[in-house]
Amino acid sequence: MEINGPYVKKYLRRFVAEPKRKIRLKNYDTAWVPREELKAQNDDAARVLLQGLLEKDRQELASAQDLLAASRQYSILIVLQGMDTSGKDGTIRHVMSGINPQGCAVYSFKVPGAEEHAHDFLWRYEKALPERGMIGIFNRSYYEDVLVVRVHPDRMEDLPPAIGPENDGFWEGRYKDINAFEKHLVRNGTVILKFFLHTSRDEQKRRLLDRLSHKEKYWKFSFTDIAEREYWDQYQVAYEEMLSATSTAYAPWFIVPADHKWVARTAVAEIVTSAIEGLHLAYPVFSDERVRELNQAKQALERE
Ligand code: AMP
Ligand code: MG
Repeated sequence: MEINGPYVKKYLRRFVAEPKRKIRLKNYDTAWVPREELKAQNDDAARVLLQGLLEKDRQELASAQDLLAASRQYSILIVLQGMDTSGKDGTIRHVMSGINPQGCAVYSFKVPGAEEHAHDFLWRYEKALPERGMIGIFNRSYYEDVLVVRVHPDRMEDLPPAIGPENDGFWEGRYKDINAFEKHLVRNGTVILKFFLHTSRDEQKRRLLDRLSHKEKYWKFSFTDIAEREYWDQYQVAYEEMLSATSTAYAPWFIVPADHKWVARTAVAEIVTSAIEGLHLAYPVFSDERVRELNQAKQALERE
C-alpha cells in the first residue's frame, strides 16, 4: 500500500523541500513575498489587503478543523522549527486564533530533563502526539535532537560509547529513526506537516534589537539567543543536512520564507488548511433509524 503525503495546493508547492535532494539554504530566499502583495506594499491598501488575507485564512482553517474534529479519522501534526526569533510563537498564535482550542494542543519542547534523557530520544514526543480529530502543534520537536545537540555535543544525553555519537553513521541512524517514526504515524492516520521558518541573520539582529528597545518586549529577550547567534553557520549546516535527509514524500518539509512575518503566517495557515481539505472528509452520516430517534427527541423537547 502506498503511503500518501499531505495534499498541497499547487501555488503552495513552491515551499516543499523536494525529497532526496541536497538542500542548500542559500538557494531559498528568506525575504520572498508573493508578487501581487509586493506591488501593493507601498500602498495604504496593503494593510487592509493583509488583514483581509489573514481573516480569510482564519475562517477557512476554522471550517477545515471543524470537519477534522467531527469526522475523527485523521490527526494533524504540525512541526515548527527555526532559528531563535524566527517567529514560531507568532505563527502558532496566528494559526490558533482561527480554531477551536478544544481541538488543538500546543507543546513547546525545552531542554530535556533527567527523566526525558533517561529514555530514547523520541519518547517525550510520542507522548504528546495528537489523537484522531485533533491538531497537535510541536513548537520545536524531535528535530532538536539532530540540531541543537549536533551543534553542541555536550548537550546530548549520555549514551554507551558503542552506540553514541562518536560512532560513524550515528546521525544517519537518527534520521532513519525519524523517517521510520513518521512513516509509522502517517500509516496510522496522522498527517505530518513540517515547517522550517527560514529567516536571515540580519533579520534576527533586527528582531533581537527590537526586543531590547521596547520595555514591553524585554521579557521575550534571552541572553542565550545572543550566545546561540555565534553558532549561526553551524546551525545552518545542521539544518541543511537534516532537511536533506528527512524531507520525504509522506512527511515533507516546507521551507517557509519568514523574514516577513505575514508571509510565513499565511503560508503555514494555507498549507494546513489545504492538507485538511485534501482529506475529503465528511460530517458523520446518520442512519434513518437514528434520524428518527433524533426527531423524536426534538418533538419531545418541543412538547415540554
Ligand atoms: P525556547 O524555544 O526559546 O523556549 O527555548 C527552548 C530551548 O530548549 C532551546 O534553546 C532549544 O535548543 C532547547 N531544546 C529543545 N529541545 C532540546 C533537546 N532535545 N535537546 C537539547 N536542547 C533542547
Ligand atoms: Mg528562544
